[in-house]
Amino acid sequence: ATAARSTLRIGLIPADGIGREVIPAARRTLEALGSDLPKLEFRDLLAGFDLFTRTGTALPRETVEVLKEGCDAALFGAVSSPSRKVAGYSSPIVALRKELDLYANIRPVVSVASESEERPAVDLIVVRENTECLYVKQESLTQTASGKEARATRLITERTMAFELALARPRKQVTIIHKSNVLSVTDGLFRETVRAVPQLLEVAGRFDSVAIAEQIVDSAVYRLFREPEIYDVMVAPNLYGDILSDAAAALVGSLGLVPSVNAGDSFVMGEPVHGSAPDIEGQGIANPLAAIRSAALMLRHLKYQDAADRIDAAVNHVVREGQFLTPDLGGKSKTDDVVEAVLRRL
Ligand code: ATP
Ligand code: MG
Repeated sequence: ATAARSTLRIGLIPADGIGREVIPAARRTLEALGSDLPKLEFRDLLAGFDLFTRTGTALPRETVEVLKEGCDAALFGAVSSPSRKVAGYSSPIVALRKELDLYANIRPVVSVASESEERPAVDLIVVRENTECLYVKQESLTQTASGKEARATRLITERTMAFELALARPRKQVTIIHKSNVLSVTDGLFRETVRAVPQLLEVAGRFDSVAIAEQIVDSAVYRLFREPEIYDVMVAPNLYGDILSDAAAALVGSLGLVPSVNAGDSFVMGEPVHGSAPDIEGQGIANPLAAIRSAALMLRHLKYQDAADRIDAAVNHVVREGQFLTPDLGGKSKTDDVVEAVLRRL
């Protein structure tokens, strides 16, 4: 991905619930950036549990094809997860991550510093492996003489993206999160692979400045809550990363603030960390900032750093000023009021 494009083609997949309220907000923000970006072309694409209940398909083939062939990047809203297993349904976001080979989920968690603070108290990135681990969903149930027995397969292979991210940060520190004291084969491979990255690279010494630390997942959660400032880039297998990044979101106040991107070698898809929030859907009060920040993160990944910085600065201003906040952050504003405040600042 280079910044030398004449147009930037972005697929929009609002999917379910408040995804349909926050993705339009992210689109308006991108459109307001003007000459910082090439000409923007948006493609509206279908997916989701609602779509499945209406048509029997959660992820139409056309959506995948347009993304693969006609888009440089995408923004995904949220998908509702049925609480019980529904015959024929499987999550479109899990399928999209696989189809597009988006093997890393990158979730920066940053608290908003007050004017007087030099740097935010929490400023870390969780890099979560995105397509493997227990999420290969190979589960089985058998009846044995002593009762039911359930098994799940866990897949770990050798790939990682965390070092590239660490290099671009002042502290340049990667912490490997694992449980290889118990799962010595699977987590052992994960740990060894990350440790070997600096030597694996042909350009000798490229990652020499990155410090590698490691932590057992349970103590990592404990320390995340007690001293979040010790972490810079945390890299974890899928399941631990899932749990850690939601926990980290709690440290900065609201799920409605935390962005992510799903990234591979040739595609990037922004996605707010929150879900479809059925409890507030349709009320016009969803916090759009996680989606807007996800758009910024997508741009950063495509190397439009200035445009991404402008969005982040505008969002930080709106949060710090505190005048236009949605109810999840203790405010009384509507989604649209927050978007307008961001656009004015831009
Ligand atoms: P899903 O099944 O789609 O994950 P969920 O019920 O787990 O849905 P989440 O979207 O994960 O809901 O949200 C958890 C809680 O956080 C809900 O009470 C929701 O209203 C709130 N929340 C999540 N995102 C936002 C947002 N953008 N703005 C305001 N509140 C939010
Ligand atoms: Mg949820």
